[in-house]
Amino acid sequence: MARVYNFSAGPSMLPEEVLKKAAAELLDYKGCGQSVMEMSHRSKVFDEIIKGAEALLRELMNIPDNYKVLFLQGGASTQFAAIPMNFMNGSGKADYVVSGQWSNKAYKEAVKYGDVKVAATSKEQNFSCVPEMDKSNFRPDADYVYICMNETVHGNIIRDLPDTGDVPLIADISSCFLSEPIDVTKFGMLYGGAQKNVAPAGLTICIIREDMLGNAREYTPSMLDYKLMADNDSLYNTPPCYTIYICKLVLEWLKENGGLEKMKEKNVKKAKLLYDFLDNSKMFKGTVVPKDRSIMNVPFVTDSEELNAKFVKEATEAGLVNIKGHRSVGGMRASIYNAMPYEGVEALVKFMAEFEAANS
Ligand SMILES: *Cc1c(COP(=O)(O)O)cnc(C)c1O
Repeated sequence: MARVYNFSAGPSMLPEEVLKKAAAELLDYKGCGQSVMEMSHRSKVFDEIIKGAEALLRELMNIPDNYKVLFLQGGASTQFAAIPMNFMNGSGKADYVVSGQWSNKAYKEAVKYGDVKVAATSKEQNFSCVPEMDKSNFRPDADYVYICMNETVHGNIIRDLPDTGDVPLIADISSCFLSEPIDVTKFGMLYGGAQKNVAPAGLTICIIREDMLGNAREYTPSMLDYKLMADNDSLYNTPPCYTIYICKLVLEWLKENGGLEKMKEKNVKKAKLLYDFLDNSKMFKGTVVPKDRSIMNVPFVTDSEELNAKFVKEATEAGLVNIKGHRSVGGMRASIYNAMPYEGVEALVKFMAEFEAANS
């Protein structure tokens, strides 16, 4: 059976080489006579897998030694609560930049835990851009400032980080994880669900500066206490072993394919192909202002709901699947993560051109 081009926002495509390798190793991992799915998380074999994944991630993202890398469960959404519980412990204040659906959800969760302010938002623009983030919007005594770097639903990305002075910056990078180089030292914490760009669902990766740890609120559940997780090398309880193994294979694939600089080059090229088409089309148009456009999630619309539905239906029949926009915004969205080949975007653009010709 031919594989489709899957434009889903997550779970999303994995590199075919990774799937093949996992298949080859499924029954017998490296001669140990068992599958990674079956082995103890305390075994020597698994220890090499999780340590290997961490080492590769550190190498690819250039993560300094004073940052901990945690492999957790619960998804990015669980961190929406864990973050205030762990870090909103000085003034009890936190400032949130609301630039789309995910930062808004994180904000709403954080409100339960303290004095939380929307420091900047592009809600009035329907999140078609990221907001202006003036230093004066941020409270100097806040415990942290929160951003969602790449808004998966609305398709915008924060390219210019806010100047938060000494206040640590925390960023959700779920949908831009490993898509391009990032300066980890600018952040107190980076985190993301793995199912967009790193692995199957079930794994959340947190990268946290060490000095941030150890000040969780007393009532913080053990499973959400980053310090406890760090002290136990992510093995306080059973971690998502098989997903961590696939994550390691993806990281190996990234390294073999030139690392994050090369990935960025490829991703920019893919995104440009699609955005150039949108900018020249009379039927389709992108919904985000050019300067804030994500290179991972590309929302677009026609001016008719009927045409949108027809397009989604016919694209699906042509093997271009999961192109429907998020239920909250409608239209279409093409998620073109690392594992989406250039040929996939080419096929989409060709199909859009044919659709436009046939329907106008
Ligand atoms: C998908 C996504 C989430 C939610 O992730 P879960 O792992 O499903 O909780 C949060 N933030 C961003 C930016 C996302 O893309």
